[in-house]
Parts: sequence; structure tokens; C-alpha cells
Amino acid sequence: MTTPELLPISLVAHQAFCPRRAWLEAAGESTDTHQVQVGVQAHTPADDPTGSRSRRYRAVDVVSHDLGVYGRCDTVELDDDAAMTVVEHKATPVRRRPEVTEPMRIQVALQARALADMGYPVAGQAVYFTNHRVRVDITLSPADVAAAREMVAATARTLDAEQAPPPLENDRRCSRCSHISVCLPDERPLAPVTRRIVVADPDTQVLHLTTPGSRAYVERGRIEVSKSGEKLGSFPIERVQGLVVHGNVDLSSGLIREVLWRSLSVVWCTSTGRVTGWARPAQGPNGGPRLLQHVASHNGRIDLARQFVTAKIANQATLLRRHGNAPDTVTRLRELQRAALDALSLTDLFGIEGEAAASYFAQFLTMFRPKVVEAEQLTFSVRTRRPARDPINAALNLCYGLLTADILRAVVACGLDPHAGFLHSSGRNKPALALDLVEEFRAAVADSVVITAFNNGELRVRDFTTVLGTTRISANGRKALIAGYERRVTGTFRHPIFGYEVSWRRAMEIQARLVLGVIDGTQPRYEGIKIR
Ligand code: SF4
Repeated sequence: MTTPELLPISLVAHQAFCPRRAWLEAAGESTDTHQVQVGVQAHTPADDPTGSRSRRYRAVDVVSHDLGVYGRCDTVELDDDAAMTVVEHKATPVRRRPEVTEPMRIQVALQARALADMGYPVAGQAVYFTNHRVRVDITLSPADVAAAREMVAATARTLDAEQAPPPLENDRRCSRCSHISVCLPDERPLAPVTRRIVVADPDTQVLHLTTPGSRAYVERGRIEVSKSGEKLGSFPIERVQGLVVHGNVDLSSGLIREVLWRSLSVVWCTSTGRVTGWARPAQGPNGGPRLLQHVASHNGRIDLARQFVTAKIANQATLLRRHGNAPDTVTRLRELQRAALDALSLTDLFGIEGEAAASYFAQFLTMFRPKVVEAEQLTFSVRTRRPARDPINAALNLCYGLLTADILRAVVACGLDPHAGFLHSSGRNKPALALDLVEEFRAAVADSVVITAFNNGELRVRDFTTVLGTTRISANGRKALIAGYERRVTGTFRHPIFGYEVSWRRAMEIQARLVLGVIDGTQPRYEGIKIR
């Protein structure tokens, strides 16, 4: 990372809390946890300069070229002698004591010194704890100022380093850190995790727009969907974590702008599930690691490719063992799973993956209830992508498209480039990394959704039409399958490595972040998700 000429004071305070936290901030990683929202709310009055009164100024910008920092004081108070007191506003989660920490001392020390360097007399400094409504005055010693100066230098060293600082190990600071869900300090060793991880608002949903000829637009903070003057739906935009547009649905430019402004992405698919494009915000995190990703993709990372294929085959074997009737195939898949771990080249891996796929899909129909197969006259023997030759293939195509859309969002969210992959070739102009990660989720998520939808009667053969050898899914069938897919990805499972309950959608982002860790050097190795 390149160190800017002047460092933000807040970044130096993050360095004092944890060097990795400073790195993540500088790399553009932002989170939207409850903790962050509380902090933002607590600062809202202090961020408004129009709230200034005589002797009490708000949102005062300060700079010190001597220290090499700039920042903003929440409040600056004037006493009778026109000397100033810097007051920093801090939100603390309820029940914690209003105590001044080392990063806070560093922060107010730098603010006060910057104010003094600008020629204003400084009388003191304080922290105002907004939740407790308690103000704590701070007396600074020359040692505090020296420590603040040293912390500025340490921040510059952190940013100058070629590699991200490693996460802290078993450190209590992590449970108080708003960046734990993107830093993943507990997941790095690829072992069971006991600490609870707070993720960005877990109640938000991906909105699928499926009605042909409809139009979606934003109005008064809601996404409105209508067709021919009839309103089809209305959703609060803050509850949406991404948009997937299926087929012929129009989005207003206002909606696209609003979604991107909120750092969300939009994925467009055909009505059969093929991903045709996506839009992502101009600003994204981890520009440095993205460059390393391209180098790694060019040089090859067989260790990553092996894991994608191994996990894919393992999950095919588990799904077939659970729901099918083909023990010999399961045994062969387990052998191929082990062989993939030892593959010496991508060519070998493709050979193993191809044999596994042929064996698995040859027995795919055994996972459907015999009564359903008979009543619906279901047939399936081989995967036919484009065009789909039967209802099961058409349903699989749609679910793989939904899965690709989700993985694309996860890859983009952590700043990686969907096009620079390790198993799929980047030269084929496809989103290679997204397709790499899709592999380990295919059986556990998409295949499972298709099997469940037919077995439960949510999907019937009458939901499909076949014309000139191409099978297409009807609008009702698509809605049923998308609903089943959403239930699956928002539902939780016990993570096979970390042992905690996690939604499949969150698991996709974790896997993308583990790939990021391998690329930026903070993750010793990658392991795909293998369901048991
Ligand atoms: S989660 Fe822990 S290691 Fe990661 S940035 Fe926060 S304090 Fe540092």
C-alpha cells in the first residue's frame, strides 16, 4: 500500500487498537454492523457544523504538517480566555464502562496537537461517551504526545508494508472489533471457532426481479415494482443486500444509482439463469491484493484449484449418499476426491473432475423420489447445459445461475476480481474466480434445491415446456425454484470446519475471503467446504 502524505487521525487511532484494523480501513474494507451504525448515529450531531454555538464549535477540521496528520474534532469548546478544549464523542456498547482507552488518548492527543500547530491555544481534551452521557477529562503528558507521534510513524510503516499484518490470535480486542466479519481472525487456522461472529445486518435479503415486462424503481426509500400500471411489490431498500434481475425486467437509472451508492451490486441473468452481466460500485476494497490475484492467477495456484475440485466431488458424494441409491458410485467419488488432492496439474484435475461429474450425474435420478419420477415421468442421464434437454437440466441451469450471481456478489464484496481464477481459465473471458468458487457449492446448494423442489411437488413437469429439443421453465416454475433457492441460501448449517451455525450465503463470502487471505499472504492455506 502507498502511504499518503498526511494520515487521517482516525487511522492512527485504529493502528493503536490493532495494526490490521488500520490496514483494513486503508484497504477500503467497510462493515455495516450494528456496532458501526451505533457509532455513526452517535457522531451525527457532532458531524454537523451548523450545530455550532458560540464557544462550542462542531466538526472542526484540523491538520498538522509537523505530525503528518489531519482529522476532524467532534467538538471544540472555548473558555473565557479563548483557550480550546477538544472533545471527542465515542459510542460504547451498553454495559461497557465509559473508560478512556489508549487509542482514544492517541486520537485526542493528535487532535489537540494539530489544533495547536494551527495556532490556537489548547486548554485541554476530553472524551464524551454518548451512550453513558459521561464526559471524562484527559490530562496529557509529554509521554502521551511522544506516543502519539510514534503511532503516526507506526501507521506509516503498516501502510508501507507489502503484506497485510496478520490477524491477532485469541485476543479480546477482536470481539470488540467491528471488522471481525471481514478480518476473520478466528477462521485463519481452519479449526473450530468458539467466538460469536457478528456479521453485517443478517436480516437483509437478495431481491430477485422475475416478472417479464415489469419495471423497478426507487421511491421514498423503497424499491417499487410495477407492470402496466399495476403495483407488484414494494420493499424497503435498507433491507436489500443485492439485486438479481431475471430476463426482461427494467431497472430505473435512479434505482441502479441508489444501489451502487449503497455499495451493493446488481446481477443480470437471462430467464434461463445464465449470468449476462453485473454492476458494482466504483469504490471497492483491497486494490493491492487484487493486483496480487492477477499475478497468482497468471502463475497458477494448483493448491487452490485442488481444493475447489476436492470439495466439489466430496459434496457430490455426500449428496448421493444421503439421498441416492448408488453406493458404488459414492465409493468411486470418494476415491476421486482423494485423487484430486494429489493432482499434479490442472489437466489431471479436469480429468478427475470430468469422471466424477459423469458418475454422479449418471446416478442423479436416484436422488428423486421413485413416486415422483414415475408420476412426473422424469428422465435424466446426462448434464445438458445449453440447451437444456429436460426439466431437471433446465432447473439445474437456473440454480447454477443463481449460485453464480451470489458468488459474484461475494467475490466483488471482498474486492477480488471475478475474472482472475485458478481452476477456470481467465483467458476464456468468463468470471473464472466466481466459477471456481461455485464448484464447491454446486451439489450442496443448487443440486439440493432442485431435488427438494421436485420431491416436494413445488416443481412439476407441467412447469416446463420443450420446443425443438430445448426445455424452458415457466414463470411460475421459476418463482418456485427461486423461492426454494432463497430458503436454502438463507437457511443455516453447521460449518464443517468452524463448527458454528452459518447461512449458506454468508459461507460463500467467508470462502471468498479465505481465498483473499491466501492471496494476500495472511491465510496459510485454503480449504473448500465439504458437507458431511
Ligand atoms: S478482528 Fe482482531 S485482528 Fe482483525 S482487525 Fe479487528 S482487532 Fe485486529
